[in-house]
Amino acid sequence: MANIGYDDTPVLPGIGFKVHGSERPQPPVITPPTPSTQSAPGAPPSDAVVLFDGATVNGWVSCRDGSPAGWKAEEGVLHVVPGTGDIRTLAEFGDCQLHIEFAAPTEVRGESQGRGNSGVFLMGLYEIQVLDCYDNPTYADGTTGAIYGQYPPLVNACRKPGEWQCYDIIWVAPKFDGDTLVSPARVTVMFNGVVLHHDTVLQGPTQHRTLAHYEPQPPIGPLTLQDHGDLVRFRNIWYRPLACYPTP
Ligand code: MG
Repeated sequence: MANIGYDDTPVLPGIGFKVHGSERPQPPVITPPTPSTQSAPGAPPSDAVVLFDGATVNGWVSCRDGSPAGWKAEEGVLHVVPGTGDIRTLAEFGDCQLHIEFAAPTEVRGESQGRGNSGVFLMGLYEIQVLDCYDNPTYADGTTGAIYGQYPPLVNACRKPGEWQCYDIIWVAPKFDGDTLVSPARVTVMFNGVVLHHDTVLQGPTQHRTLAHYEPQPPIGPLTLQDHGDLVRFRNIWYRPLACYPTP
């Protein structure tokens, strides 16, 4: 192979490779995702772990008792079945890129937190709010895309009820040394292509009407979706584990 880099350059401090060095490992080649449309989900990237296969609820269980998930899979879409409770993945993971699409009920019912409520819980504990906030005021830190009970989204970028919408989330799990919190959870959230949160530091696992605080937790956890009694739909759910490049 032709010499593709430089070997007469200085070594990058704390990294151990030369600037433009030939010896540095190549990034893995993957096939990127294809875009979703209102009528069909796109294809995940080739290195993604698919959490919903479009046909079954295999891989998801009830948060109540670990029994098979009571939600319904139909024609590529995962439907909340109200009253069956929250569901979680059997897969558990930490730092990741998560992609998930949802649609609020087409028939508009209720108001404030009672309209199209669900939730995406990272590690089963940290909620990115799912709600229909199209022409539906609610408390700011409960708006669609809020880090529930802590940080409102930077903007309300909701599409109309019934239309497919998309979260792309970069999640950095909290790190503990024994019982000591070493670094809190951080999250970046894109919603329908715009930034709602950028590297925002969380105060702890999601709480309702009280303050969050950290307690020691495992380094990995499931993805949980909330049954809040509304007919919310999901599709095209996948993640990619992330090993962030170490900063010198
Ligand atoms: Mg919710």
